[in-house]
Amino acid sequence: MFGWSLNLFRIRGIQLALHGSFFLLLAWIGYEGWQEGGWIGVMWFVGSLLAFFACVVLHELGHSFTAMHFGIGVRRILLMPIGGMAEFEAIPREPMREFLITLAGPAVNFAIVGVLALFFGLPAGFPMESEFLATAEGFAHLLLQANFIMGCFNLLPAFPMDGGRILRAILANRMPYLRATRTAATIGKIVCAGGIAYAIWQSQFLLAVLFVFIFFAGDAEYRAVRRREFDDARWREMLARIYGPGADTIDEPPMLSR
Ligand SMILES: [Zn+2]
Repeated sequence: MFGWSLNLFRIRGIQLALHGSFFLLLAWIGYEGWQEGGWIGVMWFVGSLLAFFACVVLHELGHSFTAMHFGIGVRRILLMPIGGMAEFEAIPREPMREFLITLAGPAVNFAIVGVLALFFGLPAGFPMESEFLATAEGFAHLLLQANFIMGCFNLLPAFPMDGGRILRAILANRMPYLRATRTAATIGKIVCAGGIAYAIWQSQFLLAVLFVFIFFAGDAEYRAVRRREFDDARWREMLARIYGPGADTIDEPPMLSR
């Protein structure tokens, strides 16, 4: 079940896929909606969830189209209960490119906030104590709030989240890539520790679990970068030994991103 995914359709050649666990989330949200108000509740809850994930797809398309603009292929966008992931065919190693590719995701969320605010205004009490009516306008406001939170949350400097990648790109402008990654990952761990403490204090246990997940994902990605840097160095050394100095331009191996 957890390694399984369902292919939906392609957008400009990018395969959109649902991870198996997504259906557990759908069932759980449907059940919550049923408890809340029968079939109307199910429609409201499931409709909100699908609209929310449509925005997650748009966020990932923001990353993907920017990457494709720089000639980096995108294999697929995988949707999981914790969010989306675009799988790139190569890692954008130029800091400026990584900066733009990463920024494009949250930028899509803030663009959606802007468009919805233009047509429906801001919800009462926005952003901290927003109120939502059970109307079409209330639904638009719910979506606006969700995109605002998605954009802000992704910009937290918690590597490998978007904010952490942006931080790494800025750092990589003035220090080696590996050290920039280590620094961004360390700052990310501190942010996650703070986030876990905050979430427990607010009794938001799902949020705490999410921060734990980000904590370990950041560490895993730093280790992957370190391994790749060492492999590359060894590879360059070998090429230089065989072909002489200067033969150190190699294609990077294909790799998952984000
Ligand atoms: Zn993103």
